[in-house]
Amino acid sequence: MHLTSGLTPAEASRICMHECRAKCCQGAMCLQLTAAEAGAFKNHAARLGVALFMVESPDGSAVVPFPEHAGERCPMLDGATSKCRIYEDRPARCRQFPDKLVPGCAISGG
Ligand code: SF4
Ligand code: SF4
Repeated sequence: MHLTSGLTPAEASRICMHECRAKCCQGAMCLQLTAAEAGAFKNHAARLGVALFMVESPDGSAVVPFPEHAGERCPMLDGATSKCRIYEDRPARCRQFPDKLVPGCAISGG
């Protein structure tokens, strides 16, 4: 994760949830999952009672299109709190983001 210099992880979380309100977890975007992540995502969705639509490839990897879900959000995003419901087991792409300066992403400095 690329953080603006001097920002602690706690401060970054506060900005993401309360100021930005998780813009990178919603909108006209898709989340790419490895086969292992796709399996875990399905299990989390079943456990949480969350409706999940994903496009799976023959190798087991998958794509989760946010616009196919309520509120155009990642199905794991709690729309009321802007909190990821599976934060401790979130996919690699979510852990890595932002990996560079991203326009509109405050914690990347963009
Ligand atoms: S776009 Fe940037 S500031 Fe907004 S929630 Fe995502 S990582 Fe946080
Ligand atoms: S899994 Fe969590 S961090 Fe990743 S896009 Fe969905 S809500 Fe955001």
